[in-house]
Amino acid sequence: MKTNAYAVQNATSPLAPFNFQRRDVGEHDVQIEILYCGVCHSDLHTVRNEWQNTTYPCVPGHEIVGRVVKVGAHVKKFKEGDTAGVGCMVDSCRTCANCEEDLEQFCDNVTFTYNSPDKHVGGMTFGGYSDSIVVDEAFVLQVPKNLNLAAVAPLLCAGITTYSPLRRHNVTEGQKVGVVGLGGLGHMGVKLAKALGAHVVVFTTSPNKVEDALRLGADEVVNSKNADEMKKHLNSFNFILDTVSAQHDINAYLLLLKRDGNLTQVGVPDKPLSLNVSTLIFGRRTLGGSLIGGIKETQEMLDFCGKHNITSDIELIPIQKINEAYDRLVKSDVKYRFVIDMASLQQA
Ligand code: NAP
Ligand code: ZN
Ligand code: ZN
Repeated sequence: MKTNAYAVQNATSPLAPFNFQRRDVGEHDVQIEILYCGVCHSDLHTVRNEWQNTTYPCVPGHEIVGRVVKVGAHVKKFKEGDTAGVGCMVDSCRTCANCEEDLEQFCDNVTFTYNSPDKHVGGMTFGGYSDSIVVDEAFVLQVPKNLNLAAVAPLLCAGITTYSPLRRHNVTEGQKVGVVGLGGLGHMGVKLAKALGAHVVVFTTSPNKVEDALRLGADEVVNSKNADEMKKHLNSFNFILDTVSAQHDINAYLLLLKRDGNLTQVGVPDKPLSLNVSTLIFGRRTLGGSLIGGIKETQEMLDFCGKHNITSDIELIPIQKINEAYDRLVKSDVKYRFVIDMASLQQA
């Protein structure tokens, strides 16, 4: 099936029109006409080969929502006309310990939505900057009907990546939670931590985001470049979620944790961060990481967002503006997620 898309051909070329073939719909597959796709900073890291693992050509995009146009004979959860979502994964082995615990993202044979070996047609998987996708129903999500569909797209990565560690660390009412970096992930972290009842403090390097942070639900905002403002929060946090995509000083944030507090890193800078271990030792603090979330938890997050009326704050763009959007992403100039209106792909 011919699929129109935008792809990059190498680490320095811009995203440009491209087409390729999707597989035919198998017995367990769902074919989705893609209506909207969010733009994650991981797309940019991959497109520019910043993690040194990109195979070209590359069609990014893993925050996909759309309409089901065809289902295989054995598909149970979806029918033609339903809305549906696809996140960062499209398959896994389904039998290993990680898969059995609904943690498919850690499966050795996980198939990511793009830049992963494609079991069906060979080559690499191509993602959501395209007009359609064919995915096994086990990796297709049901999206809440009461929410704006374009603003739901970012939940499929930014939403689950922040929801999962907040839940795993039992963030609840009365806790003080920090969110570092107010971008796509960060602004979802604020909304979700607030919905879980926490006292939320945003750390930003962008003074022009202060008002937005408060509007998004933050109780306090700290200019992280101001040492005096940082000092006021020493030894006070239960949990800090770090979403920063570039080099920064994590030790300054570790010092803000209470005894036994945890800082979870979800941002993936392209170079190693330096760690002063005494920030962990004095205070028995821990530093961890978190990778998206399993399919079951992603569905739970979508249902939670439906119940609490949570979506992303988006700037809807035609795909022709994608390279400009990437340049703005690098400058932290996004409020707070770009989402591609895939109808624009039809325009030449
Ligand atoms: P984003 O929208 O670009 O947001 C990143 C934010 O980090 C920026 O808005 C900015 O916030 C802050 N920042 C950027 N450069 C900085 C610097 N040099 N120093 C300090 N702060 C800086 O990106 P995103 O889509 O949220 O993704 C964030 C990171 O998470 C990326 O590395 C991405 O690859 C990664 N990610 C990880 C997972 C996972 O499963 N672990 C999933 C998705 C994405 P302020 O303007 O507020 O300072
Ligand atoms: Zn992502
Ligand atoms: Zn597995």
